[in-house]
Amino acid sequence: DPRLQAISQAIRVIPHFPKQGIMFQDITTLLLNHKAFKDTVDIFVDRYRDMGISVVAGIEARGFMFGPSIALAIGAKFIPLRKPGKLPGEVISQAYELEYGTDCLEMHVGAVLPGERTVVIDDLVATGGTLSAAINLLERMEAEVVECACVIGLSDLKGKRKLHGKPLYILVEPR
Ligand code: IMP
Repeated sequence: DPRLQAISQAIRVIPHFPKQGIMFQDITTLLLNHKAFKDTVDIFVDRYRDMGISVVAGIEARGFMFGPSIALAIGAKFIPLRKPGKLPGEVISQAYELEYGTDCLEMHVGAVLPGERTVVIDDLVATGGTLSAAINLLERMEAEVVECACVIGLSDLKGKRKLHGKPLYILVEPR
């Protein structure tokens, strides 16, 4: 796809953020580039529009920057999966492992119905731990997770093993 090179180039790499040694992939510069931003959303929309998807679930915070546009375009609802303590209603929580320590994602009870076909969206997948927690939340509510989708993903994904065999769709690799 000839659009992918421009999408990749629109993502800024910031060395040593948030700490020494990390090459941070910054999608805020992609959001500043109307064509690259629109192409990114369009590629996901073209992929998911005829797959019977009724739910797009976005992971806080950068999954919120792509998920709602995709949901609106394919006629699906959007579900925010949030960090602990942010959602006001009744939630289910799922802990997951980070490099150092653990973190947690939450989802509102009742947001998804049993059997609903769902796509999970985030900006970047590294180990797959975050997507794995998202899949767990949705499957605990008996949703059908069809695929996980990220703008950026590592090519040799150890993460794949953590995704419960769910397909992973990524547009570009880290630069
Ligand atoms: P994983 O759980 O190891 O797959 O890490 C993915 C999560 O970390 C996602 O929610 C990303 O938003 C975040 N993340 C890790 N590295 C980066 C980065 O370089 N840029 C943006 N987000 C990142």
